[in-house]
Amino acid sequence: MSDVDTFKEIKEILSSQKYSQEDISEVEKAYKFAKKNHSGQLRVSGEPYIIHPVEVAKILAGLEVDVHTLVAAFLHDVLEDTDTSPQTIKEMFGEDVLNLVQGVTKLGKLQFKSKEERQAENFRRLFIAMANDIRVIFLKLADRLHNMRTLNFMAVEKQKKIAQETIDIFAPLANRLGIYKIKAELEDLSLKYLEPEKYYEIAQLVAQTKADRESTVSELIEKISHDVERNGIKAQITGRAKHYYSIYAKMKRQNITFNDLYDVTAVRVIVDDIKQCYEVLGIIHSQFKPIPGRFKDYIAMPKGNMYQSLHTSVIGPRSKPLEVQIRTWQMHQVAEYGIAAHWRYKEKGSQKADNAKDKQFSWLHKLVEYDKEMKNAQDYVKSVKLDLFSDQVFAFTPGGDIYDFPKDATPVDFAYRIHSDVGHKTVGALINGRIVPLSTKLNNGDIVEVLTSKTPAPRLDWLTFVVTKQASSKIKQWFKKNNRDEHINIGKSNLEHELTKTVFDEYLKNGEFDKVAKIMNYQSADDLFAALGYGETTLSKITHKLKKPEDVSIENSFKKSSRKSSNKDIIGLEGMLYSFARCCSPIPGEPIVGVVTRNKGVTVHRVDCKTLETIPHERLMDIKWAGVNTNKTYTTTIRIETAEKLGLLKDVISAVSDNNTNIVNANIKTKNHVGIIEIGVELDNIDTLKKVIACIQSLPDVYSVKRIQTSANSIKKTSASKPQKKHKSK
Ligand code: MN
Repeated sequence: MSDVDTFKEIKEILSSQKYSQEDISEVEKAYKFAKKNHSGQLRVSGEPYIIHPVEVAKILAGLEVDVHTLVAAFLHDVLEDTDTSPQTIKEMFGEDVLNLVQGVTKLGKLQFKSKEERQAENFRRLFIAMANDIRVIFLKLADRLHNMRTLNFMAVEKQKKIAQETIDIFAPLANRLGIYKIKAELEDLSLKYLEPEKYYEIAQLVAQTKADRESTVSELIEKISHDVERNGIKAQITGRAKHYYSIYAKMKRQNITFNDLYDVTAVRVIVDDIKQCYEVLGIIHSQFKPIPGRFKDYIAMPKGNMYQSLHTSVIGPRSKPLEVQIRTWQMHQVAEYGIAAHWRYKEKGSQKADNAKDKQFSWLHKLVEYDKEMKNAQDYVKSVKLDLFSDQVFAFTPGGDIYDFPKDATPVDFAYRIHSDVGHKTVGALINGRIVPLSTKLNNGDIVEVLTSKTPAPRLDWLTFVVTKQASSKIKQWFKKNNRDEHINIGKSNLEHELTKTVFDEYLKNGEFDKVAKIMNYQSADDLFAALGYGETTLSKITHKLKKPEDVSIENSFKKSSRKSSNKDIIGLEGMLYSFARCCSPIPGEPIVGVVTRNKGVTVHRVDCKTLETIPHERLMDIKWAGVNTNKTYTTTIRIETAEKLGLLKDVISAVSDNNTNIVNANIKTKNHVGIIEIGVELDNIDTLKKVIACIQSLPDVYSVKRIQTSANSIKKTSASKPQKKHKSK
């Protein structure tokens, strides 16, 4: 065939359809471009390469796709097989065409390894997820169909591999999209290469029974035509053998021979409207005895891919069983072209088409709903984008096994999915052959290789980025089982810090922790500390169950000395000059102690303040708050560890200010993927502080909230009355 003829043929097809003159010129431009770039290349068949894109375009023209898809059909192999740059395609044919070509090129790189049905289903999803635009799937299906049509030029082993892939992936994909025409041809071609003997046997039997089938159908037409005409119905009635693969599948499923298969013939009746479908059904049932249990109303209950028809089986002419399908022309379009029928209606612009438009959209909508995982169906319908699996990501092992994950999954999630032992031993990961941080988010189609050590050593910070329940619970479990002593110590020191050492020791002595442990379903106080240490419970959960620290006796902790004065806030400092230590910033309601200074009166510290360790006992004064409300405000510093998340600071600030407090300073930094927020808060007493801490603690993504002491450094700089200096200057 010469060039001129090749394009002329396409031009004729396009002219007979909805394509405009402008569309056809654009298609011709693409044809010439592809021909020039593929010149000199041959297919395995020995034909010039251009034959392939031309045939792919013809298949797509048959689906009446939009003109960009048609243009992309000509260009679909130029990025992969020629020197053409994406930029050139963009300049000559626009960005939409480039996206389609790049989409189909990307899909071409996917390697299938489909052993199990589940695996195959995942591939189909991956495929849809990666395609991003449904037209890319049409291109890929048309590409595969032409490759299947010309498969005889390939080596036998390759034929089998490609045919298997087609039956596992592409035919079901076409079925999912309702494109029966392509699905049936792909299945028959696959059968031809996978089970050649069966294929030719069925083909022969179908051919032998052709005359028989035709006379059966014409007898049927004869018998019903009078009633059909009398009802003013215009019907097209045809009879044909079902496609080979469906005959094969039925023989296999029911373990029967061709001769036992009674409904090889399918009679199809196409009418103008739904009412006529049921009228024709009535006419047929009045002439021929229906076979019980074989009637299916797919008009009232469409199939998942939105196929609609009435199906019935009857004892036909000469007592031959026949399957009859009755549908409208519109249903026929959907049955043949599936999702592609969308364009056929949308762009034809007839009144029927306008009417059909809404239905088509709801049809697409339903197709989308059909898959439970699908989100944003409405958006999808609007944009014709395939956002079907946007909340999922699919990744491979180097061996080609595929796993699906929630969005934002990381190599650690991947490792735990393979096996919890692999997860525990993970030390690093390669994505597509490159070393990446373990917190890297996986993309569709990534090949993930997990690097492991000999001994398990999971890390607690993994909990900050894993997204699967499986990974996080395995990590927590591991920490629960291992490092018990360490966890007990971490838990204890967290509690000490929170409660102050004195109070903690007092609680420990009183058996208060054992009580709380029992309440929280732990065996012992140590179990409770361990649970806190590995993050199973939180400080606030424990402290809320403890009795109030004020009730804990700290008498005798320090030398007693009582002074009388009119000072109302602190008992023991009546009438004396005093100031608050900046190192520990005590606030009303918590245990305090006074330190006598040389010339600045008494400095008030928290009883657990570290600076007290260097103070001689005789300089300490036993004091306490008169009450929790002093009508003054006090400043203290809180340290919050959080997930690295934008917007979290805002939540923290509002949690603080919701409690009627004031933030006097804030300092934010990040360390090892943990966000650290230190804020100075002005407030009235310990109860408010507890409320603030509890509020922050309850925010999602907050790991810990602690009240902290200012560092020794800042004490030196800021506190004139600090005890250490006095001590030294002695
Ligand atoms: Mn191709």
